[in-house]
Amino acid sequence: MIKEYSGIAPKSDLLLIQKLCDKLKGKSFVHVNSTREGGGVAEILHRMIPFLQEQGIDARWDVIEGDADFFDFTKKTHNALQGNREKFTKPMWDHYYEVNRRNRRNVDLKADCVLIHDPQPAPLIDFRPKSGRGRNNIWMWRCHIDISNPMPSLWSQLKKHVVKYDTAIFSVPKFAKSLPINEFIVTPSIDPLSDKNRDLSDEEIHAVGEKFNIPRDKKLILQVSRFDKFKDPIGVINAYKIVKKYNDCALILAGSPATDDPEGEAILNEVKEYAGNDPDIIILLLPPDNHKEINALQRMSDVILQKSIKEGFGLTVSEAMWKEKPVIGGAVGGIPLQIVHGVTGFVVYSPEGAAFRIRQYLNDPVMARTMGQQGKEFVRNNFLLTRQIRDYLAVWYCSANKGKHMIEL
Ligand code: UDP
Repeated sequence: MIKEYSGIAPKSDLLLIQKLCDKLKGKSFVHVNSTREGGGVAEILHRMIPFLQEQGIDARWDVIEGDADFFDFTKKTHNALQGNREKFTKPMWDHYYEVNRRNRRNVDLKADCVLIHDPQPAPLIDFRPKSGRGRNNIWMWRCHIDISNPMPSLWSQLKKHVVKYDTAIFSVPKFAKSLPINEFIVTPSIDPLSDKNRDLSDEEIHAVGEKFNIPRDKKLILQVSRFDKFKDPIGVINAYKIVKKYNDCALILAGSPATDDPEGEAILNEVKEYAGNDPDIIILLLPPDNHKEINALQRMSDVILQKSIKEGFGLTVSEAMWKEKPVIGGAVGGIPLQIVHGVTGFVVYSPEGAAFRIRQYLNDPVMARTMGQQGKEFVRNNFLLTRQIRDYLAVWYCSANKGKHMIEL
């Protein structure tokens, strides 16, 4: 599997992975989250586990099970960790703990390294073996969400679990909290070999264009995102309307239908109404597994936006850059880590700013192409799956060898 990445990922990352795997060979590494399907974490784990196994690591992925009350509660905690005000009661906290207590048998708590993803399984740390095998293992808590401004009472509850870990890992420096344990920043990544990102033939791209009636005689501006107010779809339409006065173009807004999010439905209706009857605004509702379709839409577009006003990491930016597309993103969350302003894309602060940059790209195709190429190399060096595997292994290795002054590889 590692061979498949040769010539795609930086050689140094692949070498370091091999060196670290030599050191950690035969050791067990269990990842724990709360869903097998859906979401970026699950997508990456599907690929990362067999990769590690092939390198001689006894890697596993365990998923905790919960009931509707548990997931209602954890959804609320997710929102409150991102700053919303929610109501939490003691019975809710007790149930959260109880579900984790019951799940302790579904997880290999004796693995050499236990990596817990996000808050849902965080209390499992209480069931870390106190003696025998597993006593000296490493427990890492990996937080994928922006907890820079959480609801204070919620964070103080969750923190009681987090401080018991050896190590905490955050996606973006701004998201980190001050903690008395080791902390590392590991940015998320995209898999260059997945259906979402692999090379596509012209025929495959063309077929998707036909399927969705995409006009191929106009410049195409695209934003792929959930219909969520923080992704600012209305701001995107405003930017397009400004551009449209000067450049013939079409706008594609592609997103998943709202299933469990009542707000998503309302935003979608608002977007449709705001788009009016402009035939050049194409709103596509795609099933969550339409990875190849997203890939093709990104590849056929001329400019790709992620004009968020609040964002986690914003992986759609790296996805677009990997396809050598000129990108424009809101200066929030992880977007400025991906867009080096004026080099790999432009960060913007308003629909007018976005319109200005779209026009700059459309009117200067050589600049657009150069920045697209620079974007691809930036993603190659920083945001591919292999870099994330390298980092997890390095963090594990460092956590297991703390106190030693030199790490010999
Ligand atoms: N995505 C998708 N279909 C959609 C909308 C988004 O597959 O209709 C994918 C998108 O390609 C990306 C992920 O969902 O891989 C969104 O990740 P991002 O970090 O950009 O935003 P999030 O939705 O996690 O806030």
